Amino acid sequence: MPLQQHHRLPAARPRQLSLFNRHKTSRGLPFTPEKPNVALRLVKAEALRRATHGRTPVLNMRPVPLHPLFAKAQSLDGIGPKLSERLAKLVNNTVERSDPRVIDLLWNFPTGIIDRRHRPKITAAQPGIIATIEVTVTRHVAPPRGNRKIPYRVYCEDDTGEIELIFFRGRQDYLQRVLPVGAKRILSGRVERYGTKLQMSHPDHIVTDEEFKTLQLIEPVYPLTAGINSKTMRRAVTSALELVPELAEWQEHEWLKQRKWPTFAQALRRIHQPQETQDLLPLAPARQRLAYDELLASQLALALMRNSEIRGTGRAHVMDNTLRRKILSHLPFELTGSQKKALQEIQADMAGKDRMLRLLQGDVGSGKTVVALMAMAAAVEAGTQAALMAPTEVLARQHFAEFADMAEKTGFSVALLTGREKGKKRSTLLEQLKSGDLDMLIGTHALFQDDVEFADLGLAIIDEQHRFGVQQRMKLQGKGKGTDADVLVMTATPIPRTLLLTSYGDMETSQLTDKPAGRKPVTTRVLPVDRMDDLLHGLERALTSGTQVYWVCPLVEESEKLDLAAADQRHAWLRGHFGARVGLVHGRMPAEEKDAVMKSFSDGDLGILVATTVIEVGVNVPNATIMVIEHAERFGLSQLHQLRGRVGRGDQQSSCILLYQGPLSKTGKARLMVLRDSEDGFYIAEEDLRLRGGGELLGTRQSGTVEFAIAQFPEHSALLAAARDDAQLILTRDPGLTSPRGKNLKTLLYLFERDSAAKLLRSG
Ligand code: ADP
Ligand code: MG
Repeated sequence: MPLQQHHRLPAARPRQLSLFNRHKTSRGLPFTPEKPNVALRLVKAEALRRATHGRTPVLNMRPVPLHPLFAKAQSLDGIGPKLSERLAKLVNNTVERSDPRVIDLLWNFPTGIIDRRHRPKITAAQPGIIATIEVTVTRHVAPPRGNRKIPYRVYCEDDTGEIELIFFRGRQDYLQRVLPVGAKRILSGRVERYGTKLQMSHPDHIVTDEEFKTLQLIEPVYPLTAGINSKTMRRAVTSALELVPELAEWQEHEWLKQRKWPTFAQALRRIHQPQETQDLLPLAPARQRLAYDELLASQLALALMRNSEIRGTGRAHVMDNTLRRKILSHLPFELTGSQKKALQEIQADMAGKDRMLRLLQGDVGSGKTVVALMAMAAAVEAGTQAALMAPTEVLARQHFAEFADMAEKTGFSVALLTGREKGKKRSTLLEQLKSGDLDMLIGTHALFQDDVEFADLGLAIIDEQHRFGVQQRMKLQGKGKGTDADVLVMTATPIPRTLLLTSYGDMETSQLTDKPAGRKPVTTRVLPVDRMDDLLHGLERALTSGTQVYWVCPLVEESEKLDLAAADQRHAWLRGHFGARVGLVHGRMPAEEKDAVMKSFSDGDLGILVATTVIEVGVNVPNATIMVIEHAERFGLSQLHQLRGRVGRGDQQSSCILLYQGPLSKTGKARLMVLRDSEDGFYIAEEDLRLRGGGELLGTRQSGTVEFAIAQFPEHSALLAAARDDAQLILTRDPGLTSPRGKNLKTLLYLFERDSAAKLLRSG
């Protein structure tokens, strides 16, 4: 897994920048201070941050009051290099850092509490429950010499009875020191009953009256790792808390008052010194306060970057509608309402002088391709070129076939560039591209190669963007001339609104909400794998009547090899039943072989196509109306939904069978039921998020979302929306953050390590 995924520093990480930064200075324009190359600066800042490994960078502009929080945890009492290393493991889930800082400790919230307020007499103590009991020590019984199996025992009493303290491998000198006979002590720990005896083994606390006064009766419980016990952890956090300064408030007082939220410092203290179980909940006021701080910092950073990066860097395309009118007249269908609306939005962006950064979301089969075609035609009308990048070769070819057909009818030029276009063909194509003879280019990753030069790229469209790396995306949009090309990103993986905000901020989005007319709904059935025999009978009948079947094999996470083994096995097994009508296709096959199998499937020579997830995007075989997905429980819901989108493309009734291996957890069952009951990709994505929790959402990372240290979804979704509005309002009133509150907000940006965004303010 690439290291950058562990960062909590979206402002400084390329993944986050992609949509908001140009990857190089404008071609033909000298580098000038008025047009600072922010991306480059950010990359430098990031490199510096990495190089210094969390140590204070030389160019650090972090406000002085924050310095104690960013000191190394090692500067705390009782934390040496060893412990620091162990702590790193613990707090490292979001940060890649061998040397944790005070703030990393503070962001590591307790996940439970131990309540020591129950203070019974000895005989009233309930077995299995934590009790805090006042006793007098009566006698010590050491085990026979050398016998380590027998514990050291200490007996204590109060006026109701006796309790036996058990210490396996207890050290006599130590125990006599802390539990001298005749002394009064207060013990806290779990009480057990052994026969008629009451016991407490290894009490958590043994304190004197005096020490008891400072004992935390409600103890935070932290996630632990090898080599750190909870006492050490609590001690470290307690000293970290002492370093938390009272910072000048960056939130509006009215807002805090209305929400009854504490100050930043109070919130941290309350979280680490919980008073009741409720304090652990994401919606506890202290947690909400800090989550909101984090979300506001993130939204401010996104807005600042966006403002500085896109304003005025695009160009106003002048389009006359000639080509688009022709294309429309040749389409065999009417555009849907949402296709028309999306196109209007895209056209308005292209005509404006800011660079377009728009996301087109549309479920599988909602008709994104024709929207892409029309947008590209608009770019061509404006005298520029347009490129469409697809995630797979299969898909690129399919797009090209459709475009070429239309090109012939309406008179524009289009070419295909994948890894397979080589030699003379390729060089001719590149010539045409460079001279401007070619209007549109469709391709795969091959579009990124350095020798692919456009005469004038006006629009770059990226299909299924989650499959591309950020670097690649920036590279493509940077192939524009003078200014960067307008960018349209298309995705069929509906990103839930909540996640959309976190990763794209106020990036514009268009949605295709209505499906093209004439689509038949797909019937989805959820079936345990022990019903395989029934399934086989059903398939036999279907095959006989000429229907074709996709059979998707289990996804074995992180192991393509195992994927293949499973697919191979299933292929052989199905052949045993259905003979030569069964074909196999997978991602490791040579391209020619893959094409051959796909072709015999689309020609109808094969009845069943066993596949790994290669068919997830792109294939269009209307006669294939049955899809079987094995181990459906292992897939993400959105992924299942995409797979299902491969059927239901013709005019026949289609079905999707989700085979699962029981027993399913309650959530596991609920997830598959969502899919059975809905074909609405947006709803499915939201449900997926709700059922799994934001952090675990498969594909969250791929969709480029930021991970937060504090905020969590869906619990804090409402706060996110508020933070977004807040950020917008703040920057409208105070774009340079120079007002008194603005200055405090700058501190907030540094607090949540949005340093790069904060620095934009200085230079701007
Ligand atoms: P996706 O959004 O999954 O990329 P496609 O662009 O591949 O969807 O469209 C799916 C199918 O729907 C294609 O065969 C396309 O020709 C057809 N289609 C697109 N728009 C319309 C429409 N407005 N009316 C009818 N069919 C349409
Ligand atoms: Mg598509």
